[in-house]
Amino acid sequence: MRAETFCQRQVPCSAPHPDRESDPTSPRKGRGKVRTARIAIAVLAASLWSCTSAHAQTPTSPVDLTLLAINDFHGNLRPPPGGISIDDPADRTKKITVRAGGAEHMATLVAQLRAAKQNSVFVAAGDLIGASPFLSAMFHDEPTIESLSMMGLEIASVGNHEFDEGLAELRRMQNGGCHPVDHCQGSHPFAGATFRYLAASTIDIQTGQPVLPPYEIKTFDGIPVGFIGLTLKGTPGLVSPPGVAGLSFKDEAETVNALIPELKAKGVEAIVVLIHEGGFPTGDYNECPGISGPIVEIVKKFDRAVDVVISGHTHRAYTCEIDGRLVTSGDKYGTLVTSIDLKLDRTTRDVISAKANNLIVRTDTYAADPAQTALLASYDKVAGPIANRPVGSVTETLSRMPNPETGESPLGDVVADAHLAATSAEALGGAVIAFTNPGGIRADIVKRSEGPVTYGDVFAAQPFRNQLVTLTLTGAQIKAMLEQQWLDPKRPRILQVSKGFSYAWNDSATSGSRVAAERMMLNGQKIDPAANYRVTVNQFMSVGGDGFTVLKGGLAPQVGVYDVDALDAWFKINSPVAPGMLDRIGKLN
Ligand SMILES: [Zn+2]
Repeated sequence: MRAETFCQRQVPCSAPHPDRESDPTSPRKGRGKVRTARIAIAVLAASLWSCTSAHAQTPTSPVDLTLLAINDFHGNLRPPPGGISIDDPADRTKKITVRAGGAEHMATLVAQLRAAKQNSVFVAAGDLIGASPFLSAMFHDEPTIESLSMMGLEIASVGNHEFDEGLAELRRMQNGGCHPVDHCQGSHPFAGATFRYLAASTIDIQTGQPVLPPYEIKTFDGIPVGFIGLTLKGTPGLVSPPGVAGLSFKDEAETVNALIPELKAKGVEAIVVLIHEGGFPTGDYNECPGISGPIVEIVKKFDRAVDVVISGHTHRAYTCEIDGRLVTSGDKYGTLVTSIDLKLDRTTRDVISAKANNLIVRTDTYAADPAQTALLASYDKVAGPIANRPVGSVTETLSRMPNPETGESPLGDVVADAHLAATSAEALGGAVIAFTNPGGIRADIVKRSEGPVTYGDVFAAQPFRNQLVTLTLTGAQIKAMLEQQWLDPKRPRILQVSKGFSYAWNDSATSGSRVAAERMMLNGQKIDPAANYRVTVNQFMSVGGDGFTVLKGGLAPQVGVYDVDALDAWFKINSPVAPGMLDRIGKLN
């Protein structure tokens, strides 16, 4: 048994303020439950958590409340291929992979946890949708919104990926309706989320107001608990600019602290923050040694009224105590559910203790939930014939893992070549080089013992449905763009490059001079800083995504096919596709 994180603080005795005697939730009473009944399983879930009167408490004992939390689900309705990597319990110097995740198994775990508790609430910290596998992405993530609603999810902060397709699409996720271009493709109408999305820090520049509610108050045994939800202030740098047009993303701690007086005025003392920003610990999934990253400073800046912080974005698992507050995160892709036991003081209405436990959604422990199975089957029926269409073959697995020395990956080379091929004809853009961002390549293309590479496979590798854009850049602009790979020197974003282009970089050179100009070559010729080159990137990059702002200065943009369709076409013509030599990006030191 590993030690669980346990936070406790002494709460001074104080007489209840007269304001707190009024029902603090009245303006919002019942909200979020209005449409619950339309999904059968939601009704079932509700009955599971209201029928446990066996745990009757005396009026003076603290109120127990269990928070169940997830983050960064990213549409992983099925268990992600990688499972979860944890310390080997037999030898903690080693890691083991545990098969985990999937909506069917998560639903069972959540229902079991809730059945055992008198008071519970299921919440999330963003990136539930976006960068999703085929089954969810193909239907604009409607299946994921429905699946999590059926599980009884009640409150979620937005993450950066909730803005991938813009605010109007996020509102459609909340409110339902058919997609404006692809219409309704599923077997039933899309009714939107029964859970409530919160976006405290996302401000409509025109109105100055948050685009979605900043917080939600829920009452448990008469004690109100406030949930503030928000995404990281760096969201605009992670989303295609049209997705965040007209929006500003405020400082996380300032946003939260500004809401505290309003919550306190409503009688709320127990405050939980759902934040899509996180940290990087060095330990196992239920501990917190050496946590670093943005969440540490953010939590230290939070008003002392904040009791619990449920975080995300870094795709890591931890249960921490930072600055006297419990701070958790549940890895990614639905492999963990964080269970947090709170004790609430009946007099002060505040949190007196908080204890967290990250639980692995083990596929072999939690049986598939039949309602989830039925939901997925209804989408499989539509998606299956498309996903299973053969597109070609591979001689061996094409990995997206970069060479640790240079940053070049076998799949990156293939994807860049496919993007170049789709845009090299004069009428299609006249491109001579293609660059693609590593974050846009999301899954390996695996060689199976039997069966071809399918459209589902290429979609998993390129899931964003980004259109290609061909621009004119000078040689000097190409160099400047490559220098922008080190905006964060600790985590460079090494672009994948098409065949015929090569260069070398120097790790120890200073910012702005890492790329050796004399080593930038195209088909045996040195790149001329003053010459023009037609260059293909994806739309996300073309508008400055991932910090490649040089691309905003590109001239004569021509929009091309979707990235996934370019890869699909490449496989049709070039199969069997083999990994290349990884000789396009070199290292000088
Ligand atoms: Zn994120």
